[in-house]
Amino acid sequence: MNAPYNPGLLDQLQLRYAGGTAKMLIGGEWMEAASGETFETINPSTGKLIGHVASAGETDIDRAVAAARAAFEGPWAKVKPDERTRLLLKLAELIEANGEELALLETLDVGRPIQFSRMLDVQGAVSQLRYNAGWASKIMGETAEISAPGEWLSYVLREPIGVCAQIVPWNFPLVMAVGKLAPALAAGCTVVLKPAEQTPLSTLRLGELVMEAGFPEGVVNIVTGLGRTAGAALAAHRDVDKVAFTGSTVTGKAIIEASKTNFKRVQLELGGKSPTYIFADADLSKAIPAAAMGIFFNAGQVCAAGSRLFVHEAVADAVLEGVVAMAKGMKVGQTLDASTMIGPLVSAVQRERVTGYIASGRAQGASVLVGGEALSGEGYDGGYFVQPTVLLDTKPDMRVRKEEIFGPVLCAMRFGDDADIDALAGRGNETEFGLSASIYTSNISTAHKLARRLKAGTIRINGSGGVDPALPLGGFKASGWGRENGKAGIEAYTELKAVSVAL
Ligand code: ADP
Repeated sequence: MNAPYNPGLLDQLQLRYAGGTAKMLIGGEWMEAASGETFETINPSTGKLIGHVASAGETDIDRAVAAARAAFEGPWAKVKPDERTRLLLKLAELIEANGEELALLETLDVGRPIQFSRMLDVQGAVSQLRYNAGWASKIMGETAEISAPGEWLSYVLREPIGVCAQIVPWNFPLVMAVGKLAPALAAGCTVVLKPAEQTPLSTLRLGELVMEAGFPEGVVNIVTGLGRTAGAALAAHRDVDKVAFTGSTVTGKAIIEASKTNFKRVQLELGGKSPTYIFADADLSKAIPAAAMGIFFNAGQVCAAGSRLFVHEAVADAVLEGVVAMAKGMKVGQTLDASTMIGPLVSAVQRERVTGYIASGRAQGASVLVGGEALSGEGYDGGYFVQPTVLLDTKPDMRVRKEEIFGPVLCAMRFGDDADIDALAGRGNETEFGLSASIYTSNISTAHKLARRLKAGTIRINGSGGVDPALPLGGFKASGWGRENGKAGIEAYTELKAVSVAL
């Protein structure tokens, strides 16, 4: 994962996107927007233009939905489950074979350090496909004995929902696009997928690989465009049966509103303000790096980032010293350097948002233990870098404590022996979110009691990770509706139909 990148391949990619407009995939054809409009995609490590991309409007969304509908009612409906498995496995193979190119694209467009693009985006996409491929032939209905007079055969069919709109955010474009496509396709749905306008390139390359794998035209359509136009048109479209969205809570609300046109099914994976707990008996050699990477990884642009740290006072000094040492020691900088740990934020807008939060924390009385500034000058080449930051002295009603910052900013709090499990759970649950939580302790009862009391969709005990295609992913409260991944993730792309036959 730490190999140097291939400069020849990078030049090729930059040339490919520098000239002309990157086209979108509709009904098996690559096309520009009907209006001819485009938007720019920028390299966040340098602030420089990578290229122009087709900007879909309503006409293009109508075309893409019509292509997905035609494929759903036509050729795709006849494709048997084992053929869907084969196609998904073929796509996994192609992603692996083109892994270095996809990793470089992700690094250029998202600003993720290359070692993580290779490991997380490419390998993550491959494992999503391999996991979901197997499900295509394992979707089962049920039979039921009913109590009506007479003799009956009653059975429940589990059918694909239909045409699915999938709207993806900019923090993990490839792995999230694939994580949404794979269960939908395994279940027999067709898809119109929209990457975020900040990061369309790896998804467009994915579209080429989808066609190379041999999926019939119209099964996967990729539309690039702005959220307020293309995204809004998709969410409101009357011929879309389901919308699956990952992104901010504000946009999640807009999607719910828009979906009312036809009562389409809605799946939402939204924001978080996830707590990490470190108890006095924790193994600090694991807990300290986990607390630091839980918030600094991907410059904090992770929905499940551990943005609030609750640490027992007996170990608080040691933990904070360790987190500060990591904040100062990790290489923040150019993402093509294999030793870089933290890249830029995705855009100038996001950098202003994050530094605005830090300023608001200061204004409301928080103090900065480490970091707190944007980085510029030598080594930062005009990119959107912000220092890994730890805030102390925050209060529950401060914006930095309540709201999702989506940047490398940790609020650290101490607790003492007077805080019992219920009180600690209460502090963890005090935000509107409920996406994930991490617990570090050597006492199994403490760990499991706290896990039960926390309102969060994913809980990790004594280890980071815990996100896997086999495990349901999603949130309580304002963190979303429904679950992706695992059996629940497949079933979320199906409808039930009860059939009763009077014998
Ligand atoms: P951010 O505010 O950080 O850009 P969003 O949640 O708005 O995050 O973006 C996530 C995805 O949602 C992107 O693909 C974006 O284009 C899309 N999007 C934004 N606004 C809307 C909207 N009103 N309707 C549908 N999709 C939207």
